[in-house]
Amino acid sequence: MKDELLTLTHAGEHQKDYLNAVTPPVFLNSLHIFDRMEDYLNQGKTGEYVYGRVSNPTVHILEEKVAALEKGSMAVAFASGMAAFSAAVLAVCEAGSHIICLRDVYGPVKRALNEYFIPQMGMSVSYWDGRDLDELESLIRDNTALMVLESPATFVFSVFDIEGTAQIAKAHGVKTYIDNSFCTPLYQKPLTLGIDIVMHTMSKYIGGHSDIIGGILAVRDEKLGKTLMDNIRQWFGGILGPMEAWLAIRGLRTLDLRVERHQKTAMEVAAFLENHPKVEKVYYTGLASHPQADLINKQQTGHTGLMSFQLKAEPEAAMRLVNELKVFEIGCSWGGFESLAITPLAGASEEELKFLQLGEKGRGLIRIHCGLEGTEALLEDLEQALAKI
Ligand SMILES: *Cc1c(COP(=O)(O)O)cnc(C)c1O
Repeated sequence: MKDELLTLTHAGEHQKDYLNAVTPPVFLNSLHIFDRMEDYLNQGKTGEYVYGRVSNPTVHILEEKVAALEKGSMAVAFASGMAAFSAAVLAVCEAGSHIICLRDVYGPVKRALNEYFIPQMGMSVSYWDGRDLDELESLIRDNTALMVLESPATFVFSVFDIEGTAQIAKAHGVKTYIDNSFCTPLYQKPLTLGIDIVMHTMSKYIGGHSDIIGGILAVRDEKLGKTLMDNIRQWFGGILGPMEAWLAIRGLRTLDLRVERHQKTAMEVAAFLENHPKVEKVYYTGLASHPQADLINKQQTGHTGLMSFQLKAEPEAAMRLVNELKVFEIGCSWGGFESLAITPLAGASEEELKFLQLGEKGRGLIRIHCGLEGTEALLEDLEQALAKI
């Protein structure tokens, strides 16, 4: 933890290079220039900055910090989490590759697979519910290139055995990718459990203030890191902007303080909901009643502020409850300072609810993000809204 706090606050920063300014400048330049043609021709060897689509000094500070936090050798920043995900697929897969995807990953990831990579790149995808490692192994084919994973996963915050999964993938020469945005680099370190590529969307806890879009990949294998940075990012052009990088660096300075508070509030909110007579079930990895509590305690060291719950009432009541909330705003993101509520599956198709094995009840799922407005305000808000339904 001591090293992590030093990384959050200081790593990757070289004040001497920028007039001893205590915070780094936003390098708002597209170009770096050279004294002599020989130096320009030599840049490949000396690793100097050349052009902004390739690398940027402010972006690089962020990359150094995230690489260190994830115990990786390199991190590569992109313009969004989805750009980072696409880059990982492009780096690892080829036309015709087979992907194994966790069933409950972030929705747009499944849409990109189902509506682009399958029909237009000739790929195929098998979905896995995350429970049985033997089943996972049975899904592997000769052309399986990548496993797309997320833990805790979207909607009901189930987890899967990260280390066991990584071992199976390695034994079959399959690369693994995990979305670690929920836990932040502080509460879960998938690279240390054998995962190849870790992704964070920076619009969530890393940015922390709901003011940036960005994504970042961390890896241990430098060859893979170089492919992501020097090939995929350069060719497809998805680098993070320097202003966003600067805001992410600022976000990281307080990440530890913020997630600790998000978690403290969420713990109290989860306990309140679990004991409320109108609530049927609470899905939060911090609850002792989580069916996978042992596995969670083995691979996570914290839980942050995101959870979902189900009312005892009919699914329509969920939307009424969300509409009654006053401190919790309605919005689809999380990880910022603000509390948010949403019924993510209220408009889902029957097919989707069946796929997620939630059935019609899934429409009534309420997801909340506990922000930084203080526990008391959130409990009062939930109390008054629950009283009205
Ligand atoms: C928001 C989110 C993303 C997408 O990130 P963008 O930066 O918006 O592209 C990916 N994964 C999870 C779990 C998210 O919540």
